[in-house]
Amino acid sequence: MHWNTSPTIAVPIETRIPVSALTPVRPRRDDGFVRDRLGRVIHDLRISVTDRCNFRCTYCMPRDKFGRDHAFLSRDDLLSFEEIVRVARVAVGLGVRKVRLTGGEPLLRRELHRLVEMLRAIPGIELALTTNGALLSRHASALRQAGLDRVTVSLDALDDATFRRMNDVDFPVADVLRGIDAAADAGFTDTKINMVVRRGVNDGGIVDMARYFRGSGHVLRFIEFMDVGLTNDWRLDQVVPADEVIRRIHAEFPLVPVQAHYRGEVAERWQYVDGAGEIGVIAAVTQAFCQDCTRLRLSPEGKLFTCLFAGSGHDLRTRLRSGADDDAISAWMASVWSARQDRYSELRGQNTAPQDKIEMSYIGG
Ligand code: SAM
Ligand code: SF4
Ligand code: SF4
Repeated sequence: MHWNTSPTIAVPIETRIPVSALTPVRPRRDDGFVRDRLGRVIHDLRISVTDRCNFRCTYCMPRDKFGRDHAFLSRDDLLSFEEIVRVARVAVGLGVRKVRLTGGEPLLRRELHRLVEMLRAIPGIELALTTNGALLSRHASALRQAGLDRVTVSLDALDDATFRRMNDVDFPVADVLRGIDAAADAGFTDTKINMVVRRGVNDGGIVDMARYFRGSGHVLRFIEFMDVGLTNDWRLDQVVPADEVIRRIHAEFPLVPVQAHYRGEVAERWQYVDGAGEIGVIAAVTQAFCQDCTRLRLSPEGKLFTCLFAGSGHDLRTRLRSGADDDAISAWMASVWSARQDRYSELRGQNTAPQDKIEMSYIGG
């Protein structure tokens, strides 16, 4: 099931499923639009609207590093909704077709539905949100009415004690499950549920999660624990390879691979043989997908990042506030993308990491 022919980390693979039977078909190449130095187009824009969060997930914002002393961005630092929309509009001119709002916790940004409404006015984009779900019951309906297409909810465990331990603010899992239901009631379909799997922490719940969401219409996705940022004490032995996740679920609920929707889709998709729906795995560590990485990221205070593992961004806010017109902004963004040659995950293990990696809670995944 490997698309990447040169994985850089040797991950043990026991095979109970014949690999040949499970090989996904590689998607076709896109054409047109601005390309980076490795030939990749821009398809997605991820917009982080805040670096603050109401959770302290141990793999993302460990409490000892994100306590009172942590310097969060001030309100004045943040891009305004008008500035964010302007960037999105220009990015669409460069090929972006999918815009995702993220954070920190995006639902902490006041009146987020207003931003959704403003982005909705840009023709031709799919508009999605990634949230921890804590405030979703409160906001689902307004977000839907504002024109949000899709929601992804992060949920790392169904077991309440495990969930509370992982979010580290003692938040009950029942409230997130209520948020997921509220999203369905508000009219959202194809909701994705993201579970970051950390060995010895929540991997015991993989099959339970699969069982719970089978047949629900929601797409459960398992994410390998990544070495983003400098604070989460990442260790390779805590990564549960996507192959193993698939094997564990397949043993209980047989699966077959599904073709990707488009080039750059990061999740490998699998379907239950009995028709109970679909799951996905995001094998960012064991099967790096840099060659298909078509994501541009905008930080809360207006820096462009061309990779999750970058050490620094490109200052767009100064340009936005200096009177540059859209053509100038577009040309500059195109030049940033054209110079891009990031492929950190493919080179992982070769000591290519910048000294100063940005945090996931700042850039939004
Ligand atoms: N707060 C929102 C949430 O949790 O959905 C949005 C921002 S969060 C940074 C985006 C996604 O990144 C979440 O699904 C989260 O689980 C994932 N994430 C955070 N740290 C990670 C890590 N070290 N490895 C893999 N995924 C991670
Ligand atoms: Fe958890 Fe998301 Fe907050 Fe990170 S940003 S601590 S993943 S809820
Ligand atoms: Fe994209 Fe960077 Fe992740 Fe590779 S390491 S998939 S280039 S964000």
